[in-house]
Amino acid sequence: MKYIAVQCPQCGATLHFEKGSKQSVCEYCSSTIAAVDENAAQTVTDGIPTKDALLGRAFVLLADGNFPAAAKELDKVLELDPGCAMAYAGKTMAVRGVRKLPNLAGLSASLSDDSNFSRAIAYGNESERRYFSSLALQAKHRFDGQQAADETGAAGREFRSGVPGAVILIFAVICLIFFIGGFMKGSGDAGSYLLPGIISFAQFALLLVSWLMGNRIIRTKNDRTFLIPAIIAAVLVVPFFLVR
Ligand SMILES: [Zn+2]
Repeated sequence: MKYIAVQCPQCGATLHFEKGSKQSVCEYCSSTIAAVDENAAQTVTDGIPTKDALLGRAFVLLADGNFPAAAKELDKVLELDPGCAMAYAGKTMAVRGVRKLPNLAGLSASLSDDSNFSRAIAYGNESERRYFSSLALQAKHRFDGQQAADETGAAGREFRSGVPGAVILIFAVICLIFFIGGFMKGSGDAGSYLLPGIISFAQFALLLVSWLMGNRIIRTKNDRTFLIPAIIAAVLVVPFFLVR
């Protein structure tokens, strides 16, 4: 059977099409190649070369989720061609349990630090390099986002379990009790409870904002910004003493 070798415009892999086929799907990156220009095709061969056959089988095994078997096939490819970028990309997929090449972008990982994937980028032809780099960039964005979220989560937990979180929460509950209690006993004489009620509710609201800031539920640029509403709430205690 006659095959023509063409390069995938998306990922740069060498693909082998049966002569005369007009459309195909890249077995590596799953992009559809609309039409095969036979004049632009590099070679016409009888059968697929061994290395490409092994590589193709490895990617079928990856797609099936058979990662150990895929890794073995990829090692064979690398014995024949130690500079095969797609084989190194495949190794990355086998190690990380990724079935499809484009799904590497969905990982939360620093792929450029991955020994296999950094080789895939280093040894790739121009389009392979471009494609692999874009996958690594997307994975890195997720990785950075994940790290930032982890740090925020840790800071929030530290606040909750620490003294400032506890003090603010207790203070807020006291203000709420004061507010509700004032209304319950103050019915009848509006002047005696209205102003203290407004103040204690304002304190409660400020402390709630402060607590949410400390938990990083409300995001602030500075980690100490939560102290501002808490201090204002504390200062609002003063009118209670002035009235008496
Ligand atoms: Zn492709």
